[in-house]
Amino acid sequence: MSTKDCCSSCKTEVKEENNNNCPICNNGGRSVAKETIVHLVKDGYSNLLHSEEYMICMKEDCEAVYYSLNKDEVYLQHQVKVPIWFKVDANPKYACYCSEVTEKQVINAIKEQGAKTVKEINAITGAMKDSNCIKNNPLGTCCHGIIQEIIDKTLV
Ligand SMILES: [Zn+2]
Repeated sequence: MSTKDCCSSCKTEVKEENNNNCPICNNGGRSVAKETIVHLVKDGYSNLLHSEEYMICMKEDCEAVYYSLNKDEVYLQHQVKVPIWFKVDANPKYACYCSEVTEKQVINAIKEQGAKTVKEINAITGAMKDSNCIKNNPLGTCCHGIIQEIIDKTLV
């Protein structure tokens, strides 16, 4: 490390402050709309949300779910209303949060009823009816992609 020899005014070390990684596990996160987080943290936490920009930790075995970009706030799995499907302890693993359809139901629809497309899955399981993903899905994104992933995974 030769940073000690660096002139004190060049600010090359400021870099660290710009990283968006999880403050608990230091792995990468994804940006999530505040509206989603307000809806999904348990009662009593939503009024603690003081930042404007939030991220979700994507690491499967990290307890942290949401954190503010400035790292002042961290919300752990037990402070969030729904299990985060990609975390190791998620139970049940929801594929579609709006209609509360689980990964297991999707896999059954594929294996036992021969569904091959998201449309067929939806017809069998009732997934993606009355969608309000911005409020119900922990990533604030449509569950279409999650269901497609399960199809791809199950049909190989
Ligand atoms: Zn983490």
